[in-house]
Amino acid sequence: MARNCVLLVLENYINGEFVASETHVDSFEPSTGNVYCRVPDSGEAEVNAAVEAAKRAFPAWAARSPQERGRILTRLAELIESRLEELAIAESHDQGKTVEHARTVDIPRAAYNFRFFASAVQHYTTECTQADHVGCMHYTVRSPVGVVGLISPWNLPLYLLTWKIAPAIALGNTVVAKPSELTSVTAWMLCMLLREAGVPPGVVNVVLGTGQKAGAALVGHPDVPAISFTGSTATACDITVRSALHCKRLSLELGGKNPAVIFADADLDACVATTVRSSFANQGEICLCTSRIYVQRPIFKEFLEKFVKAARAWKVGPPDDFTSNMGPLISKEHLAKVRGYVELAERDGGQVLCGEGVDPLLLPPRCQGGYFLAPTVITGVPDDSPAMQEEIFGPVVCVSPFEDEDEAVTRSNGVRYGLAAVVWSRDVARVHRVAKRLQAGIVWTNCWLIRELNLPFGGMKASGIGREGAKDSFEFFTDVKTITIKH
Ligand code: NAD
Repeated sequence: MARNCVLLVLENYINGEFVASETHVDSFEPSTGNVYCRVPDSGEAEVNAAVEAAKRAFPAWAARSPQERGRILTRLAELIESRLEELAIAESHDQGKTVEHARTVDIPRAAYNFRFFASAVQHYTTECTQADHVGCMHYTVRSPVGVVGLISPWNLPLYLLTWKIAPAIALGNTVVAKPSELTSVTAWMLCMLLREAGVPPGVVNVVLGTGQKAGAALVGHPDVPAISFTGSTATACDITVRSALHCKRLSLELGGKNPAVIFADADLDACVATTVRSSFANQGEICLCTSRIYVQRPIFKEFLEKFVKAARAWKVGPPDDFTSNMGPLISKEHLAKVRGYVELAERDGGQVLCGEGVDPLLLPPRCQGGYFLAPTVITGVPDDSPAMQEEIFGPVVCVSPFEDEDEAVTRSNGVRYGLAAVVWSRDVARVHRVAKRLQAGIVWTNCWLIRELNLPFGGMKASGIGREGAKDSFEFFTDVKTITIKH
């Protein structure tokens, strides 16, 4: 295996200190296939030390006012913004996403997560009622849960990790975070900013390592009463089983198999442009990406022609090239998995309209070993094919015609997932009707990926349990108590 000259060696961040590790796992650069970073291979000992630090820091942090905590979070947001370019380049290097995506989506959103919860935490209120017949007053108080475990995936590394850290600490919890071992660099860089922002030692601890060792130790730790997890449904099942032994509170944000339903009266040009983005942005490695496209019969042919043309124009290339729309997939294994689904689709009668690999001549020599795959559009795949049922999590979409509303809804709902859906139509009544019938935690109509952080985010069915968002995160990261006063 070819190696870069300088290997980046990451460290854990425990009790406000960087702690070197004796053992590591290799992390590969997706655009070259070379090892470029060594991630601590942490286990129980490191997790125990982090939980101890978080326990010690908890009483003083919980006692601070929301205003004080909010000020520190705002400072953290400012620091992330001041290092935006540096963080964007690191995220792109580590994950494979284009620098442009990291610069315009991942890193600004990571900063905004802290800014948003710094403010939101000032506005939470609890309940109070006198509506009983015995003259009592009843009210609720909320207190932080304690030490919470945060486990995040590789597709939007800093964005999703901060979406958990921000509400957890804004509400007075202390945390032990375990980012994905495939993309740990920006979490490690964040630790330097935590210090600078004035986050006290022990409030945020970051333990790097694999899910099987570090992740499992965190889930199994008896002094971590709540776990917020974003990742695959299979891992969530494992976490659920092991958490049950400790009655842990779980928030699970999981996989999807998201449909786009395009009616004949849609604004086709806007729809094609957005659907190309919803299918291939971030290499299709966003849990909210479209992976099944149902198009009403009268416009099926026209849509397909325009969509394939636009998919062919979606340029795959080095992530640091500003003309690239898409970089490589996260790993060799993931590339093989995604290719495997394309083969299954073909086995089941599907016809691949575009996306047969990437011409190596289009890539610079340093990227010849990278995990690139062109945007792939397949048609004629039966609904029961694995390519139509299972999460592919790559730049592959299946397109299929439908006749009427009932058929579109039934087929959209005919998978075990229920994360996100998109509806395209100019008929307002239909948009409301269809959105209501779709089994998805979020339905976009005539748009995609516009997030309102105040409202619940999460999935139905195998796409998750619980919701995150202003009010929902408030409820997850606090314990509620009802107090009754007889007067
Ligand atoms: P994954 O489940 O393999 O890993 C996610 C995290 O869990 C990583 O940090 C990993 O190290 C850790 N982990 C793995 N096994 C563990 C175990 N046994 N115990 C504790 N921790 C463990 O998922 P991934 O491949 O990193 O991410 C891709 C998946 O995440 C896709 O299914 C995608 O849809 C999903 N996702 C969902 C959302 C959402 O908001 N719903 C957002 C992003 C990604």
